[in-house]
Formats: sequence, C-alpha cells, structure tokens
Amino acid sequence: MRKKVVAGNWKMNLTPAQARDFATEMKSKINTDSVDVVMCVPFVYLPMVQDILAGTKIAVGAQNMHYADEGAYTGEISGKMLAEMNVPYVIIGHSERREYFSETDTTVNIKSLKALQHGLVPIVCIGETLKQRDSNRTFDVIAKQLEIALCGMGAENIAKIVIAYEPIWAIGTGKTATKEQAEEVCAAIRAQIRGRYGDEPAAAVRVLYGGSVNDANANELFTMPNIDGGLVGGASLKPSFEKVVFYDK
Ligand code: PEP
Repeated sequence: MRKKVVAGNWKMNLTPAQARDFATEMKSKINTDSVDVVMCVPFVYLPMVQDILAGTKIAVGAQNMHYADEGAYTGEISGKMLAEMNVPYVIIGHSERREYFSETDTTVNIKSLKALQHGLVPIVCIGETLKQRDSNRTFDVIAKQLEIALCGMGAENIAKIVIAYEPIWAIGTGKTATKEQAEEVCAAIRAQIRGRYGDEPAAAVRVLYGGSVNDANANELFTMPNIDGGLVGGASLKPSFEKVVFYDK
C-alpha cells in the first residue's frame, strides 16, 4: 500500500507573524503517521517553521530550487543548500514557475535529478492547460511532460519521487477536476511509469492530484485507486487544512 501524501503549498503568502501562528496551530492539530504531511513554505520561513514543527510528524518543504549547487545565480537557492538545511521535500516545476519564471520540461528534469542527488524528494508537477484539455490533448501533453521530467532517472529513483498531476485550469480557480478526470490522468501516469520501469516502480510511485483541493472534496479524490493524496494551495493556508489531511475521518 502506498502511503498518502498531503502537501501544502503556501506559495508567496502569509507574513512572518501569520506563518508562525499558522504553523503553531497546525502543530497542535496534525500529528499523524497515517499520511505524510508536508508544508512547503517560502524559503525565508524555512528555519522558523522547522523550529516550530520540530518533533512533529509534519515535514517542511521548499517550493523551488536551482539546479546548480552554487554559483553566480543571484536570488536563487540550491538543492544542496536545502539538503544541508534538512529540508526533505521540494516542489519542482509548479505551473506558476513554468508560466512566470520560464521553467521548462528540461529544467524540471535537471532540477529533479539534482534534488534526488541531494537526497531530496522532488514533487514533480505536470498538468495541461484548459485549451489543451478542450482540444483532447491532455494525455499527449502529460505523457510528454512526464517523459522529459524522467529523462536519465533510474528505476531505483522512481519510488523516491512524488508526481503531482495539476491541471492548470484547476489551480487557484475553485474549479476542481472531477474524481474521474483526476483518476484517469493519474492512472495514465502510473501506466507510463509501468511501461518504462516495470511493475514495482509503478506500484510504488506516489501520484498526487492538485487543483482546488479542499476539505469538501479531498475524500472523494484521495480515495480513487491511483490518487495518492494531494498538492494543496489555497486550502493549505486555512485551519481546514487539518480536514484535508484527515480526509478519511
Ligand atoms: C497548487 O498550488 O499547487 C494548487 C493546486 O493550488 P490550489 O489548491 O489553490 O488550486
């Protein structure tokens, strides 16, 4: 059985005081072994949130990283830095990074490989636009994004990564994919992994759904056979994030 993952993506939200208060509130409410809970916070809040959540089962993650270990990349943070800061997870290739910061399938690939090299779990994001869905290209788009993201990645690494299927039209829009729409794409992702790496990696890799997940729809989504949890934006900033984590209660 794959363990579910619920990863919150705070994006560029909350003041330091709000971040402290919210992390403290979640610390008192979320302490579970049954789901892997991750809070991906802005870089500057990593040490503070790590301190608050020390000794809990909530992991603290980053929202991005650079593919180089160090160098003249003003304003960037490397995977090597994150690893030495004991940050276990990093979101790679979120659609907002692709749209506003020119990230491509190739940079997603290089960053994911680098994250693995440093022992980080990359949460690799893929997803189609509304235009691509409406022109029946969803499966082709996803297959290509996934193929490039996994370039040069050995079978031994597949169980170590998390893939997040995030249809772009569902992110931050309140328009959630139906459980059937989300399941069929997550199943296709798993089938592609099976075709390329075999049964064992396909059975082990965790595939999340992301796109307007909240406490009202988490249960129906996360209980689909090929959906192993969620990447959660807006709802990860609300007290009801607890209910997303405990989606089966
Ligand atoms: C996200 O940030 O990855 C996301 C899915 O956002 P939201 O849940 O707000 O749609």
